[in-house]
Amino acid sequence: VDDVDLIVIGAGPGGSNAAAVALSGGLTVLQLDAARFPRVKPCAGGVTMKARAALRLAIEPSAQRSFHAIEFNVWGHPPNRLEHHNPLLTMVCRPEFDNQLVQQNRRRAAFTLRDGVRATRVEYVDRRFRVETDHGPLFAPQLVAADGAYSVVNRTFRISRPRAMATAIEANIPVGRASATVDQVPCLDYGAVTRGYGWVFPKHDHASVGLYTLAPRVSGLRELLAGYIRAKGFAPPAASRARFEAYRIPVGGFRLRVPRCPVYLVGDAGGFADAMTGEGIYHALESGRIAGEVAVAVARGLGSPRQYYRRLWKPVLRDTALTYACAIPLFRHIERTIGLLEHPLVSRPLIHGASAAATFGDCVLKGGIYLVRSLRSEPGRHNARP
Ligand SMILES: Cc1cc2nc3c(=O)[nH]c(=O)nc-3n(C[C@H](O)[C@H](O)[C@H](O)COP(=O)(O)OP(=O)(O)OC[C@H]3O[C@@H](n4cnc5c(N)ncnc54)[C@H](O)[C@@H]3O)c2cc1C
Repeated sequence: VDDVDLIVIGAGPGGSNAAAVALSGGLTVLQLDAARFPRVKPCAGGVTMKARAALRLAIEPSAQRSFHAIEFNVWGHPPNRLEHHNPLLTMVCRPEFDNQLVQQNRRRAAFTLRDGVRATRVEYVDRRFRVETDHGPLFAPQLVAADGAYSVVNRTFRISRPRAMATAIEANIPVGRASATVDQVPCLDYGAVTRGYGWVFPKHDHASVGLYTLAPRVSGLRELLAGYIRAKGFAPPAASRARFEAYRIPVGGFRLRVPRCPVYLVGDAGGFADAMTGEGIYHALESGRIAGEVAVAVARGLGSPRQYYRRLWKPVLRDTALTYACAIPLFRHIERTIGLLEHPLVSRPLIHGASAAATFGDCVLKGGIYLVRSLRSEPGRHNARP
């Protein structure tokens, strides 16, 4: 007899959103995570409007500042600030955000969290999954694999082969109240590192400062980060440099081999993140949301697991593919491509679309519509140099 209707491996945003949707659909859910919660998750914590729209739990308990402006700069050039009258980005601290999502699910009677439990092996036998863990086996007829960049489940079922592994390295720099960064908006400095960018994302009491690169190897990344931190006007305490650690973000996982069993690959486990920016919270939340819905339909005998992979294309995989394809010319010709954003015909549809929770694909395909809407709603405020 199966203990639960659905096992979710991983309690990042992808896994928790899938669990929330499945619980709302009446399933019993067991979620496990190798880490004990609250756990550390290196991430700049920028949550876009499309990510907020995909989230099926409350962000408010862990939301920090929301920003109406963002800078897409070419490193060493004057800042290029894009603004909108609606918010564009909400900041969270990931340990707190992820823990909040887990705690919201925990209020549901049909939910069980097993944190500090690592899945070591997964197999599908006699129409159910057997998940081996370091605390004994678990069983369920359906499985959500939201186990992050080094997914055990993806290795087992070979569903996705991400094209590249991006690298991101960050430091959280405490910021005094009187600091100049109080007025700062989130910024991305393209070209601050080979085939990548540097970022500053301001939070309440600190700033996340980091580097993102698609280059397979960058030597001296820690020193580069220390230099970038200084160049942005912060002082990196020497002792903290040793703590800078680099993390991988799989990207370009858009060509999937649809599995024969009801396993749903979600978020970083599939390599769905945006290769141009490293944004992955949206892709995790949205794929998790769809996985939860399909799991409910399958449990009720109203759908097939293959629907998950079909439904994933437009809201998630199309962007995974498009941003991977665009990342190559973007990082080769940073000045020319980021320079395009200075043109209102490019920046307006992108910013208006982003504020309306549109995907990158929708901003490109429906650029004309977003341009007209932006002109109607905010005739002259875009692309102001600060
Ligand atoms: C430095 C950095 C900055 C970033 N900044 C941003 C940003 O500002 N905005 C944005 O949108 N994205 C950002 N990203 C990307 C984003 O963090 C990820 O894309 C996102 O966390 C993916 O969510 P997920 O739920 O798929 O996986 P994760 O959040 O990685 O969660 C996976 C979970 O699975 C657990 N797990 C793994 N293996 C097992 C196992 N075998 N058994 C049990 N549990 C397991 C892990 O402990 C983890 O809790 C950043 C990434 C990095 C590295």
